Amino acid sequence: MPLDLEIIESTAAMQARARELRATGKTIVFVPTMGFLHAGHLSLMEIGREHGDILVASIFVNPTQFGPGEDLEAYPRDMPRDLALLEEVGADIVFTPTPDEIYTPGFQTYVTLEHLPNRLCGLSRPVHFRGVATVVTKLFHIVLPHAAVFGLKDYQQYVIIKRLVKDLGLDIRIIGGPTMREADGLALSSRNAYLNPAERESAICLNQALARADQMIKEGIVESQAIIAQSAAYIEAHTGTQIDYIALVDPETLEDVARIDRPVQMALAVKVGSTRLIDNRRLNE
Ligand code: AMP
Repeated sequence: MPLDLEIIESTAAMQARARELRATGKTIVFVPTMGFLHAGHLSLMEIGREHGDILVASIFVNPTQFGPGEDLEAYPRDMPRDLALLEEVGADIVFTPTPDEIYTPGFQTYVTLEHLPNRLCGLSRPVHFRGVATVVTKLFHIVLPHAAVFGLKDYQQYVIIKRLVKDLGLDIRIIGGPTMREADGLALSSRNAYLNPAERESAICLNQALARADQMIKEGIVESQAIIAQSAAYIEAHTGTQIDYIALVDPETLEDVARIDRPVQMALAVKVGSTRLIDNRRLNE
């Protein structure tokens, strides 16, 4: 079977291809990923295909978004499988740069946001969003998309990218894709591959805690602290769990909301064994 998927490794070639496509009036939709693709990534590709003529995916395990002691080396990778899946889902181009291609010798320019990263995941991962904002800005300048799709699974990342695009005046539409889940509710994540069977069983408590919080609000509980306390107790009752944070925040500013009198985003991060998992859900819509 001939391969329809075009694989581009160099920045110059990707940029040239994007310019060429734009010159012929094509619209480009971009889905950045770190690879080891699952149905969540593929759902973003499907969304992307509906929002433009040419679907460009990227696979790049971005070193600058991993802190010291995080799982950069261990991060799962399977390029042949990823390419087959991208081909199957109908991606047109995949950009697969090496770290040296993105972080050229002497690299020292970073994109940072003042406030949004200093919350939620940013508290335990202090360099993470600087790495994300920098690589996404750089990829945007290489892929030259009209629109880009990001998963709501990484809700803080989605809010940060929307802010970045607005603040820098980039002419790129940011589209949020819903979180894809396993049958028992666990949000799909490349990191789920780290879980042993017992941890995999405990891991469903994240989504279950979100569903229980949703129910509590429907039953009339309005104090965030009460919901957080009950959610914490529920999660801690599962073996091997260690809570990083549980928060109810404003969906745009990500500031804590004390009283639930409007829609809020509930977000949590929990270590299950040594694997850090995140999930979130809009409550009180
Ligand atoms: P990653 O490869 O983890 O950097 O993720 C690439 C993109 O896929 C990001 O926009 C993520 O938010 C998105 N994503 C990750 N997991 C899911 C999921 N379960 N459902 C939908 N999108 C997801």
